[in-house]
Amino acid sequence: MRTTRLTALLGLAAVAALGLTACNSGSPTPGGAAGGSEGTDESSVWFETASDVSLEGSPTFDRITERGGVIVGVKEDQPGLGFLDVTTNERTGFDIDIARWIAASLGYGEEDITFQPIASANREQAIVNGDIDYYVGTYSITDKRKEQIDFAGPYFITGQGLLVASDSDIASEADLGPDTNVCSATGSTPIQNIKANFPGVPTTEFDVYSACVEALLNGQVDAVTTDQAILIGYAALYPDELKVVGEPFSEERYGVGLEKGDTVLLEHINEMFTDGGDIWQAIFDKNLGASGITVEQPAVDAAS
Ligand code: GLU
Repeated sequence: MRTTRLTALLGLAAVAALGLTACNSGSPTPGGAAGGSEGTDESSVWFETASDVSLEGSPTFDRITERGGVIVGVKEDQPGLGFLDVTTNERTGFDIDIARWIAASLGYGEEDITFQPIASANREQAIVNGDIDYYVGTYSITDKRKEQIDFAGPYFITGQGLLVASDSDIASEADLGPDTNVCSATGSTPIQNIKANFPGVPTTEFDVYSACVEALLNGQVDAVTTDQAILIGYAALYPDELKVVGEPFSEERYGVGLEKGDTVLLEHINEMFTDGGDIWQAIFDKNLGASGITVEQPAVDAAS
Protein backbone atom coordinates (compact mmCIF):
# COMPACT_ATOMS: atom_id res chain seq x y z
CA MET A 1 0.00 0.00 0.00
CA ARG A 2 2.64 2.46 1.10
CA THR A 3 4.89 1.65 -1.80
CA THR A 4 2.02 2.24 -4.18
CA ARG A 5 1.37 5.64 -2.67
CA LEU A 6 5.03 6.59 -2.84
CA THR A 7 5.31 5.38 -6.39
CA ALA A 8 2.32 7.46 -7.41
CA LEU A 9 3.72 10.49 -5.60
CA LEU A 10 7.10 10.01 -7.18
CA GLY A 11 5.51 9.92 -10.58
CA LEU A 12 3.48 13.06 -10.14
CA ALA A 13 6.24 15.03 -8.51
CA ALA A 14 8.91 14.02 -10.97
CA VAL A 15 6.80 15.09 -13.90
CA ALA A 16 5.70 18.30 -12.23
CA ALA A 17 9.10 19.29 -10.90
CA LEU A 18 11.18 18.48 -13.90
CA GLY A 19 8.68 18.89 -16.73
CA LEU A 20 10.24 16.05 -18.59
CA THR A 21 9.33 14.97 -22.04
CA ALA A 22 10.99 12.57 -24.36
CA CYS A 23 10.37 11.55 -27.88
CA ASN A 24 12.37 9.70 -30.43
CA SER A 25 13.22 10.61 -33.93
CA GLY A 26 12.75 7.71 -36.25
CA SER A 27 14.88 9.33 -38.92
CA PRO A 28 17.63 6.98 -39.95
CA THR A 29 20.58 9.31 -39.63
CA PRO A 30 23.80 7.60 -38.65
CA GLY A 31 25.67 8.39 -35.49
CA GLY A 32 23.15 8.48 -32.68
CA ALA A 33 22.98 12.26 -32.64
CA ALA A 34 20.51 14.15 -30.50
CA GLY A 35 18.33 17.12 -31.15
CA GLY A 36 15.82 19.19 -29.31
CA SER A 37 12.33 20.19 -30.27
CA GLU A 38 11.72 23.81 -31.07
CA GLY A 39 8.84 26.00 -30.07
CA THR A 40 8.45 24.60 -26.57
CA ASP A 41 9.95 25.79 -23.32
CA GLU A 42 10.13 22.25 -21.99
CA SER A 43 13.58 20.87 -22.65
CA SER A 44 13.34 17.69 -24.62
CA VAL A 45 15.93 15.51 -26.24
CA TRP A 46 15.54 12.98 -28.97
CA PHE A 47 18.03 10.68 -30.58
CA GLU A 48 18.52 9.92 -34.22
CA THR A 49 18.68 6.20 -34.73
CA ALA A 50 21.84 5.16 -36.54
CA SER A 51 21.60 2.93 -39.59
CA ASP A 52 23.98 0.35 -41.07
CA VAL A 53 25.76 -0.14 -37.78
CA SER A 54 28.31 -2.89 -37.57
CA LEU A 55 30.25 -3.78 -34.47
CA GLU A 56 32.34 -6.70 -35.57
CA GLY A 57 33.62 -8.75 -32.68
CA SER A 58 30.98 -7.62 -30.17
CA PRO A 59 29.09 -10.64 -28.81
CA THR A 60 26.53 -8.29 -27.25
CA PHE A 61 25.85 -6.58 -30.57
CA ASP A 62 25.50 -9.99 -32.27
CA ARG A 63 22.91 -10.98 -29.68
CA ILE A 64 21.05 -7.69 -30.14
CA THR A 65 21.05 -8.11 -33.93
CA GLU A 66 19.72 -11.64 -33.70
CA ARG A 67 16.97 -10.55 -31.33
CA GLY A 68 16.16 -7.36 -33.26
CA GLY A 69 16.03 -5.25 -30.09
CA VAL A 70 17.95 -4.07 -27.06
CA ILE A 71 17.43 -5.12 -23.44
CA VAL A 72 18.70 -2.52 -20.99
CA GLY A 73 18.96 -2.90 -17.24
CA VAL A 74 17.81 0.21 -15.36
CA LYS A 75 16.47 1.63 -12.10
CA GLU A 76 12.89 2.82 -12.03
CA ASP A 77 12.39 4.45 -8.62
CA GLN A 78 15.06 7.15 -8.79
CA PRO A 79 13.53 10.45 -9.94
CA GLY A 80 15.71 12.46 -12.30
CA LEU A 81 17.96 9.45 -12.95
CA GLY A 82 15.94 6.32 -13.67
CA PHE A 83 12.23 6.57 -13.17
CA LEU A 84 9.02 4.88 -14.33
CA ASP A 85 5.79 6.85 -14.04
CA VAL A 86 3.34 4.06 -13.37
CA THR A 87 0.35 6.14 -14.44
CA THR A 88 1.69 7.06 -17.89
CA ASN A 89 4.21 4.22 -18.26
CA GLU A 90 6.77 6.80 -19.27
CA ARG A 91 10.39 6.34 -18.34
CA THR A 92 12.47 9.40 -17.60
CA GLY A 93 15.84 10.31 -16.18
CA PHE A 94 19.45 11.01 -16.99
CA ASP A 95 20.38 7.31 -17.03
CA ILE A 96 17.35 6.39 -19.11
CA ASP A 97 18.36 8.93 -21.76
CA ILE A 98 21.95 7.69 -21.69
CA ALA A 99 20.53 4.21 -22.31
CA ARG A 100 18.40 5.55 -25.21
CA TRP A 101 21.41 7.34 -26.66
CA ILE A 102 23.45 4.12 -26.66
CA ALA A 103 20.56 2.17 -28.22
CA ALA A 104 20.18 4.82 -30.95
CA SER A 105 23.89 4.62 -31.70
CA LEU A 106 23.48 0.87 -32.20
CA GLY A 107 20.54 1.38 -34.57
CA TYR A 108 17.60 0.91 -32.19
CA GLY A 109 14.86 3.39 -31.36
CA GLU A 110 12.49 3.55 -28.41
CA GLU A 111 10.17 0.89 -29.79
CA ASP A 112 13.07 -1.59 -29.92
CA ILE A 113 14.20 -1.08 -26.33
CA THR A 114 13.07 -3.30 -23.46
CA PHE A 115 13.82 -1.71 -20.11
CA GLN A 116 14.45 -4.25 -17.37
CA PRO A 117 14.38 -3.01 -13.77
CA ILE A 118 17.23 -4.59 -11.80
CA ALA A 119 18.12 -3.81 -8.20
CA SER A 120 21.64 -2.88 -7.11
CA ALA A 121 22.48 -6.31 -5.71
CA ASN A 122 21.55 -8.17 -8.90
CA ARG A 123 23.33 -6.17 -11.59
CA GLU A 124 26.55 -8.13 -12.11
CA GLN A 125 24.67 -11.44 -12.24
CA ALA A 126 22.18 -10.10 -14.81
CA ILE A 127 25.07 -9.03 -17.03
CA VAL A 128 27.01 -12.28 -16.53
CA ASN A 129 23.86 -14.29 -17.34
CA GLY A 130 23.26 -12.27 -20.52
CA ASP A 131 19.79 -11.29 -19.24
CA ILE A 132 20.50 -7.71 -20.32
CA ASP A 133 22.74 -6.21 -23.00
CA TYR A 134 23.94 -3.32 -20.89
CA TYR A 135 23.06 -1.61 -17.59
CA VAL A 136 22.62 2.12 -17.04
CA GLY A 137 21.55 2.94 -13.50
CA THR A 138 23.72 4.85 -11.00
CA TYR A 139 26.23 2.01 -11.32
CA SER A 140 29.57 2.86 -9.73
CA ILE A 141 32.72 1.55 -11.37
CA THR A 142 34.58 -0.55 -8.79
CA ASP A 143 37.47 -3.00 -9.00
CA LYS A 144 35.38 -5.67 -7.33
CA ARG A 145 32.61 -5.38 -9.92
CA LYS A 146 35.21 -5.31 -12.69
CA GLU A 147 36.18 -8.85 -11.73
CA GLN A 148 32.86 -9.94 -13.24
CA ILE A 149 31.93 -7.27 -15.79
CA ASP A 150 33.32 -4.31 -17.73
CA PHE A 151 32.31 -0.67 -17.53
CA ALA A 152 32.19 1.94 -20.27
CA GLY A 153 32.62 5.47 -18.97
CA PRO A 154 32.61 7.04 -16.49
CA TYR A 155 29.80 9.26 -17.74
CA PHE A 156 28.87 10.94 -14.41
CA ILE A 157 30.49 11.54 -11.04
CA THR A 158 28.75 12.04 -7.71
CA GLY A 159 29.40 11.04 -4.11
CA GLN A 160 27.76 9.38 -1.14
CA GLY A 161 25.49 11.62 0.94
CA LEU A 162 22.83 11.52 3.65
CA LEU A 163 19.10 12.17 3.51
CA VAL A 164 17.47 12.89 6.87
CA ALA A 165 14.25 14.32 8.30
CA SER A 166 14.15 18.10 8.08
CA ASP A 167 14.19 18.37 11.90
CA SER A 168 17.06 15.88 12.32
CA ASP A 169 20.23 16.77 14.24
CA ILE A 170 22.34 14.73 11.82
CA ALA A 171 24.35 17.29 9.86
CA SER A 172 26.98 15.04 8.28
CA GLU A 173 28.42 11.54 8.43
CA ALA A 174 30.36 12.63 11.54
CA ASP A 175 27.05 12.51 13.44
CA LEU A 176 26.41 8.84 12.67
CA GLY A 177 26.68 6.60 15.71
CA PRO A 178 25.09 3.70 17.63
CA ASP A 179 21.76 5.56 17.85
CA THR A 180 21.41 6.41 14.17
CA ASN A 181 19.97 3.71 11.99
CA VAL A 182 21.08 4.18 8.40
CA CYS A 183 19.23 2.68 5.44
CA SER A 184 20.62 1.83 2.02
CA ALA A 185 20.27 -0.69 -0.80
CA THR A 186 21.68 -4.18 -0.53
CA GLY A 187 24.78 -4.67 -2.66
CA SER A 188 25.42 -0.94 -3.09
CA THR A 189 28.72 0.82 -2.48
CA PRO A 190 27.18 3.18 0.15
CA ILE A 191 26.03 0.31 2.40
CA GLN A 192 29.44 -1.30 2.02
CA ASN A 193 31.10 1.97 3.02
CA ILE A 194 28.96 2.30 6.16
CA LYS A 195 29.63 -1.29 7.19
CA ALA A 196 33.38 -1.05 6.55
CA ASN A 197 34.12 2.45 7.82
CA PHE A 198 31.42 3.29 10.36
CA PRO A 199 31.55 0.36 12.76
CA GLY A 200 28.78 0.34 15.34
CA VAL A 201 26.35 2.28 13.14
CA PRO A 202 23.21 0.14 12.77
CA THR A 203 22.03 -0.41 9.22
CA THR A 204 18.79 -1.34 7.49
CA GLU A 205 18.77 -2.69 3.94
CA PHE A 206 16.16 -2.90 1.24
CA ASP A 207 16.53 -3.86 -2.39
CA VAL A 208 15.61 -0.35 -3.60
CA TYR A 209 16.13 3.17 -2.24
CA SER A 210 12.46 4.18 -2.39
CA ALA A 211 11.82 1.61 0.38
CA CYS A 212 14.46 3.36 2.50
CA VAL A 213 12.78 6.71 1.85
CA GLU A 214 9.48 5.22 3.02
CA ALA A 215 11.20 3.97 6.19
CA LEU A 216 12.67 7.42 6.79
CA LEU A 217 9.31 9.13 6.33
CA ASN A 218 7.79 6.64 8.77
CA GLY A 219 10.52 7.26 11.35
CA GLN A 220 11.79 3.67 11.15
CA VAL A 221 15.31 4.79 10.22
CA ASP A 222 17.25 8.00 10.91
CA ALA A 223 18.97 8.47 7.57
CA VAL A 224 19.10 7.16 4.02
CA THR A 225 22.52 6.97 2.47
CA THR A 226 23.40 6.67 -1.19
CA ASP A 227 24.72 8.93 -3.94
CA GLN A 228 23.79 12.59 -3.50
CA ALA A 229 22.44 12.74 -7.05
CA ILE A 230 19.87 10.10 -6.05
CA LEU A 231 19.05 11.68 -2.68
CA ILE A 232 18.46 15.12 -4.21
CA GLY A 233 15.71 13.58 -6.36
CA TYR A 234 13.93 12.22 -3.28
CA ALA A 235 14.42 15.42 -1.25
CA ALA A 236 12.76 17.39 -4.05
CA LEU A 237 9.63 15.26 -3.60
CA TYR A 238 9.40 16.02 0.11
CA PRO A 239 10.84 19.50 0.60
CA ASP A 240 9.07 19.97 3.93
CA GLU A 241 9.90 16.55 5.37
CA LEU A 242 13.39 15.69 4.14
CA LYS A 243 16.78 17.30 3.54
CA VAL A 244 20.16 16.28 2.13
CA VAL A 245 22.97 17.12 4.58
CA GLY A 246 26.78 17.29 4.56
CA GLU A 247 29.29 17.02 1.79
CA PRO A 248 29.79 13.94 -0.39
CA PHE A 249 32.00 11.48 1.49
CA SER A 250 32.95 9.14 -1.34
CA GLU A 251 33.48 9.36 -5.06
CA GLU A 252 31.02 7.42 -7.21
CA ARG A 253 31.92 7.21 -10.89
CA TYR A 254 29.02 5.92 -12.94
CA GLY A 255 29.72 3.46 -15.75
CA VAL A 256 27.67 1.47 -18.22
CA GLY A 257 27.78 -2.17 -17.16
CA LEU A 258 28.79 -4.53 -19.99
CA GLU A 259 29.61 -8.17 -20.53
CA LYS A 260 33.23 -8.74 -19.55
CA GLY A 261 35.52 -8.84 -22.55
CA ASP A 262 33.24 -7.02 -25.00
CA THR A 263 35.86 -4.37 -25.71
CA VAL A 264 34.32 -3.56 -29.08
CA LEU A 265 31.09 -2.37 -27.47
CA LEU A 266 32.99 -0.74 -24.62
CA GLU A 267 35.12 1.28 -27.05
CA HIS A 268 32.07 2.17 -29.14
CA ILE A 269 30.29 3.62 -26.09
CA ASN A 270 33.40 5.41 -24.83
CA GLU A 271 33.90 6.98 -28.24
CA MET A 272 30.27 8.05 -28.25
CA PHE A 273 30.72 9.72 -24.84
CA THR A 274 33.98 11.38 -25.93
CA ASP A 275 32.57 12.75 -29.18
CA GLY A 276 29.12 13.54 -27.83
CA GLY A 277 29.72 16.30 -25.31
CA ASP A 278 26.79 18.37 -26.62
CA ILE A 279 24.45 15.42 -26.36
CA TRP A 280 25.63 14.63 -22.83
CA GLN A 281 25.00 18.25 -21.86
CA ALA A 282 21.51 18.23 -23.39
CA ILE A 283 20.67 15.05 -21.48
CA PHE A 284 21.99 16.57 -18.26
CA ASP A 285 20.12 19.86 -18.73
CA LYS A 286 16.86 18.09 -19.49
CA ASN A 287 16.94 15.71 -16.55
CA LEU A 288 19.05 17.32 -13.83
CA GLY A 289 19.28 20.96 -14.88
CA ALA A 290 16.58 22.01 -12.42
CA SER A 291 17.99 19.91 -9.56
CA GLY A 292 20.76 22.27 -8.46
CA ILE A 293 23.40 19.61 -9.13
CA THR A 294 26.40 20.90 -11.03
CA VAL A 295 28.40 18.18 -12.72
CA GLU A 296 30.67 18.30 -15.73
CA GLN A 297 31.01 15.43 -18.11
CA PRO A 298 34.01 13.35 -16.98
CA ALA A 299 36.60 11.98 -19.39
CA VAL A 300 36.21 8.26 -20.02
CA ASP A 301 38.75 5.85 -18.58
CA ALA A 302 41.53 4.79 -20.90
CA ALA A 303 40.78 1.17 -20.08
CA SER A 304 37.82 0.48 -17.84
N1 GLU B 1 26.40 4.19 -7.08
C1 GLU B 1 26.24 3.29 -5.99
C2 GLU B 1 26.39 1.85 -6.44
O1 GLU B 1 26.59 1.59 -7.59
C3 GLU B 1 24.91 3.49 -5.29
C4 GLU B 1 23.72 3.62 -6.17
C5 GLU B 1 23.11 2.29 -6.57
O2 GLU B 1 22.97 1.39 -5.71
O3 GLU B 1 22.75 2.16 -7.74
O4 GLU B 1 26.36 0.96 -5.64
